[in-house]
Amino acid sequence: MQCDILTLFPEVFEPYINSGILRRARAKGLLELKLYNLRQYSENKHLQVDDVPYGGGPGMVLKPEPILRAVETIAQGQKSKRVILTTPQGQPFNQQLARELAGEAYLLIICGRYEGVDERVAQQLVTDEISIGDYVLTGGELPALTILDAVTRLIPGVLGNDASAAADSFSEVLLDYPHYTRPAEYKGLQVPEVLLSGNHEQIRRWRRYQALKRTYHRRPELLNELGLSDEDKELLSKIKGEG
Ligand code: SAM
Repeated sequence: MQCDILTLFPEVFEPYINSGILRRARAKGLLELKLYNLRQYSENKHLQVDDVPYGGGPGMVLKPEPILRAVETIAQGQKSKRVILTTPQGQPFNQQLARELAGEAYLLIICGRYEGVDERVAQQLVTDEISIGDYVLTGGELPALTILDAVTRLIPGVLGNDASAAADSFSEVLLDYPHYTRPAEYKGLQVPEVLLSGNHEQIRRWRRYQALKRTYHRRPELLNELGLSDEDKELLSKIKGEG
């Protein structure tokens, strides 16, 4: 996948994209990532990219021309493209959308700043307006990194073991089951016996039970989206009986 990011602060991406999974995905050639500084696309002699809002009010707004010019130049020649505008007013980002974007050959993410981006940018060329949650951040850089990270780990071959993404929370609607590693006992806290048993069927069933239990207590609305198997129904009635 190729991903281009348009931002006023390319430097904030560097430590994250040069660490861990993102670094590995780039090294393997599974993710080709380029950062573009929006100021390069200003035709103003002071490289200004923002201006006061029409109608008055506080703050500044990112001007349309530098962004439109940048996107046209950067994405030139891309046949199929998703042009994403980060905005708290967008479609909520979730695992399903991450999976959909991971199937794309090309993404361009626009990071807003100040009061946001002139509305004509969205009208003209944006395919997706995406929000990472119901709160307002200073800029679109953290949302862009959030989207990029979640999408990259779903590109086939990026994770050492693709099964680990398949078991993650939300992949199959449910929250993930609890994880343990060595030591088997720490300050009196024991790892559940079943995980030490080597019995794969019992471990599978315990994990399913835990995933259902967590989801039931923490995010019960997710259970409405799950097609329940007979085993799920049996486990859920046990969980509900426990109160
Ligand atoms: N005035 C805007 C509003 O209320 O919708 C908020 C602008 S915010 C201070 C500046 C930029 O940060 C936005 O243009 C967007 O790119 C980014 N941003 C802030 N919060 C975000 C969120 N929850 N999801 C996605 N992007 C966000």
